[in-house]
Amino acid sequence: MENKARVRFAPSPTGELHVGNARTALFNWMFARHEGGRFILRIEDTDESRSDSAYQTSLLEDLKWLGLTWDEGPDIGGGYGPYRQSERLDLYEAHLKKLVDADLAYPCYCTEEELEEERQTLILAKRMPRYLGKCRNLSAGEREALAASGRKPSCRFKVPRTTIEFNDLIRGPIRFEGEAMGDFIIVRSNGMPAYNFAVVIDDHRMAVTHVIRGEDHLSNTALQIMLYRALGFEPPAFAHHCLILGKDHAKLSKRHGSVSVGEFRRQGFLPEALINYLGLLGSSFAGGREILSRDEMIDAFSLSRASRSGAVFDEDKLRWLNAAYIRKTSTEDLLRKLEPFLRAAGFRPETLDAAWLKNVLETVKGELTTLAEIGAHIDLFFDERYSLSDEARRLLAAPGAREVVGAFGDYLERAEDNAGDIYAAAIRHAKEKSGAKGRDLFMPVRAALTGKLKGPELDRVFAVLGVDSARGRFQQVKKTLGI
Ligand code: GLU
Repeated sequence: MENKARVRFAPSPTGELHVGNARTALFNWMFARHEGGRFILRIEDTDESRSDSAYQTSLLEDLKWLGLTWDEGPDIGGGYGPYRQSERLDLYEAHLKKLVDADLAYPCYCTEEELEEERQTLILAKRMPRYLGKCRNLSAGEREALAASGRKPSCRFKVPRTTIEFNDLIRGPIRFEGEAMGDFIIVRSNGMPAYNFAVVIDDHRMAVTHVIRGEDHLSNTALQIMLYRALGFEPPAFAHHCLILGKDHAKLSKRHGSVSVGEFRRQGFLPEALINYLGLLGSSFAGGREILSRDEMIDAFSLSRASRSGAVFDEDKLRWLNAAYIRKTSTEDLLRKLEPFLRAAGFRPETLDAAWLKNVLETVKGELTTLAEIGAHIDLFFDERYSLSDEARRLLAAPGAREVVGAFGDYLERAEDNAGDIYAAAIRHAKEKSGAKGRDLFMPVRAALTGKLKGPELDRVFAVLGVDSARGRFQQVKKTLGI
């Protein structure tokens, strides 16, 4: 067997890929690539009532979109398959038999109601709620009678009364008392394996060397180590990274806003930006660097740099990174990525002159924070979408604005279409005629030319629009102002 690091990402297909899980995938992926090891994708779909094949498809798509490619997985196979838990049921059954034969597991006939009652009694008595082992020592006769009464048993693991200790690669030494834990279910009454059981068999059989996952799994790790021991397997190394928190320091969830990779993709975030941000979150890179390529992140990745305390998700920072990545993207490439967003904003890119559209894009590229904003940034270049915003209207109504607009517009009307730098000449003319300068000069021109108070450099906008269109807009504004 190869001696290389083998790590896995093991999502349950019960929803869209959450950024927290994407970050777990990223950590595993960076670790595998850094170590020259293998990154495995395993689908944990044994909870039939919550799993959905549509989510399975979207999980794979989102991971691919993020560029977190796997070396073994349900779609590509590998030497340790199958890679879907629902296709590994016979394996779980065989291992269950091993535990039952060794008297390390037993059937439990308690109903949901009985278990709930036990829980409530313990809570009332201020004791830790856990299973107290009612079915642990049933005689064969008692079992038969319970089965005959129609009860379907689950199967519980006999928790040893020992201490579980392990050295977490992020958190250091961790200790759990077996004493405090109840016998837990390893196979549910419907015959499906429980998470803690299936995961141990899979991680062992898939020769996983390092389990890197969120700190919410710490107590599961204690249970899993017990199972490793009971089955005679060597446990892998464990690393539990911190969770992503919302601004209120609660675990990041829907009520904080967008949380799934799909949502960010649909809003026009670039995968490079999201990956970079998730890599930055709760870990630090040498020299305080913030913008890193995939290769640089892989190079710099180390579990020991991962933070132990929760990392607060800061969407503004993500937006800042996204804007930086948009600026870095070549215009041709950006145009391709923008295509669906342009359509969604009502544009038909195939009807537009390609060179002109490229020009437009180069003019607004520096202003975009997400791709979905494209419509709001380029509509000023389309005469049929041109209109004055309320702010622009107010600005144009203020004293001094009329003179600027009047003079600028007059110049345009008289100018020959190809008479050198018409914009510069019109500005000079408006300045002389109105006496305005600085903001008082440029803002009315901007408001009239674009209908807005913010936007790209005016000379760029003017050049892309062309004299004809500018002339038409100034005529329209002059009419509105009664000039
Ligand atoms: N299916 C589990 C989850 O999505 C996997 C946890 C683990 O990595 O062991 O939380």
